[in-house]
Amino acid sequence: MPDYDNDNIFAKIIRGELPAHKVFEDDNTLAFLDIMPRADGHALVIPKAPSRNVLDIEIADLCAVMATVQMIARAGLKAFQAQGAIIQQFNEAEGGQVVFHTHFHVIPRRAGVELKPPAAIKEDEAVLARNAERLRAALQD
Ligand code: 5GP
Repeated sequence: MPDYDNDNIFAKIIRGELPAHKVFEDDNTLAFLDIMPRADGHALVIPKAPSRNVLDIEIADLCAVMATVQMIARAGLKAFQAQGAIIQQFNEAEGGQVVFHTHFHVIPRRAGVELKPPAAIKEDEAVLARNAERLRAALQD
C-alpha cells in the first residue's frame, strides 16, 4: 500500500488550507459536506490523524470516526426528514477510493428520492451552506 500523502485534499481541509462546509468537529474527527453530494446532507466524516483508509487506520481513530458517523447519520435523518441512511467507505483505488485520507460517506435517504451519481455534480455553495446549517441545527437538538 502506498504511503499517506500529506497534501491530499482532506488533509488540507483539516489544516484549514482549503475551505469546507463543516458540520461537526471534535479533537479527533471532522465532518463536512461532500461538494458533489448524492443527496441533500451528504456528509464526509474523517479522522484528524493521518491514515489512507480502513486498511491502515489506528483502531482508536476508527472508533472515534464511527462515533461521529453515527451522530451525523442520526442528525441527517432529523435535518432532511429522511427515513434511512447510506454509510459507505472505499479502500484504495481498486476499492473505489479517490481521496486517500480515511473517510466515511453519510448519505440521508428519503423515500422516493433517487440518489445522484457519485462525485458527478458540483452543488451550489449556497445550497451546501444551507444544508450544513440544517445539519448543525439538528446536532443541537
Ligand atoms: P471517494 O474517495 O470516497 O471515492 O470519493 C471522494 C469524495 O470526496 C467524493 O464523493 C467527492 O465528491 C468528494 N470530494 C472531492 N473533492 C472534494 C473537496 O474538495 N471537498 C469536499 N468537501 N469533497 C470533495
